[in-house]
Amino acid sequence: MSGGGYLIRTFGCQMNEHDSERIAGLLESGGLVRTEDAGDAKVIVLNTCAVRENADNRLYGSLGHLKPIKDANPDVRIVVAGCLAQKDRGIIQRRAPWVDVVVGTHALPGLLDLLKQAEDDGPQMDVREYTEVFPSALPARRESRHHAWVSVSVGCDNRCTFCIVPLVRGVQRSRALGDVVAEVQGLVRRGVVEVTLLGQNVNTYGRDLSVPGSGSRSRFAELLRAVNDVEGIRRIRFISPHPHDFTDDVVEAMAECDAVCEHIHFPLQSGSDRVLRAMRRSYRSERYLGWLDRIRAGVRGVAVTTDVIVGFPGETDADFEATLDVVRRAEFDAAFTFQYSSRPGTAAATLEDQVPKEVVQERFDRLVELQERISLQRNRDLVGRTVEILVEGDGRKGNLRGRTRTNKLVHLPGTQAPGTFLQARVRGAHPHHLTADPMRDALGLPVATASSG
Ligand code: SF4
Repeated sequence: MSGGGYLIRTFGCQMNEHDSERIAGLLESGGLVRTEDAGDAKVIVLNTCAVRENADNRLYGSLGHLKPIKDANPDVRIVVAGCLAQKDRGIIQRRAPWVDVVVGTHALPGLLDLLKQAEDDGPQMDVREYTEVFPSALPARRESRHHAWVSVSVGCDNRCTFCIVPLVRGVQRSRALGDVVAEVQGLVRRGVVEVTLLGQNVNTYGRDLSVPGSGSRSRFAELLRAVNDVEGIRRIRFISPHPHDFTDDVVEAMAECDAVCEHIHFPLQSGSDRVLRAMRRSYRSERYLGWLDRIRAGVRGVAVTTDVIVGFPGETDADFEATLDVVRRAEFDAAFTFQYSSRPGTAAATLEDQVPKEVVQERFDRLVELQERISLQRNRDLVGRTVEILVEGDGRKGNLRGRTRTNKLVHLPGTQAPGTFLQARVRGAHPHHLTADPMRDALGLPVATASSG
């Protein structure tokens, strides 16, 4: 297909954003150009997420808005991609027959063919169960010139009872180490200075690549070292690890690899051992805190962020107090806090004893208030320090927006282009960001340590 515009709406996590870049790349390789105006679009893609709350309602609400567009112009192709496409399959076109293509998480490489078939034969669906071509092997339209997501594995072998990922993304499948390194090398040649390695459980990377009979072992530390050796890469991040699999060799690699940033996202989910068991998380709170101590001892200045779910079925006041206790002791730099909501298809959706909404809300507010106090204190500890900032773009009130190696959002004055590294002194602290002033040289110019060009 060639000519015309395409429009993509992404609902979801970084994995979805990464997939959307691939969808954009595929459509552009088919001759389409990006547009933000639905009236100009020949192809409209909703890239869905099954993890976020109300994902179904948002999808069917959006499809309702698209119906008049399709009625007015039957040549517009409407595509539903992503996790909900994988999960809901035929339901989508039964509820919204104006959808031309349903393409699951494993079937993206065939998107152009599906669009062509839809043109010739009517609505199409491909929700195959197995990834044959890694999304990263497809063309991409990158959203940023200096940063790129790099997928290292898809799927997950765990079975956390609240999580839909294993159902929609399948078992873990790792990408060959050489492919990952080659992609990073190519990205660096195009001016990328920061990559985020993406996997549902990134630190079991490579277990499925082992030679049969040799025992399965993670090769994540090896991967970090190999990417760190790519000439010109300045920052390496990764999400998300599972605490249970955070082995000493990864801590050592983090400490020894210059480009690996001092930030770990270390999902706690709950501080109650009873709830952790019900979630089928394989660690308990004291072990989790022990691992955290080990990471902080091994990686100087590391910032730790986390995920916490409030109101998992059966969570009592005592369970919630246990969570607050762990959050206090862990002193996270930041936490993504979620109110539990049932996801059809997960084991937890069938559990009785759902916690009343108002109880969940009250606990949630208390947790947020506690974490904000801790985040503010941790950020205050940085005031007066010099940090390296990678400029990401324009921020508030004419300021620049950037990030420290520890993944703290920083607002600072200046006009530098995205992708520029600056040295800056932290001036102020807030729960969710820092303010800073660029360091200046003898001529009064900001000290820029490098540029992606
Ligand atoms: S480890 Fe993460 S992705 Fe895997 S099932 Fe658990 S929550 Fe889901």
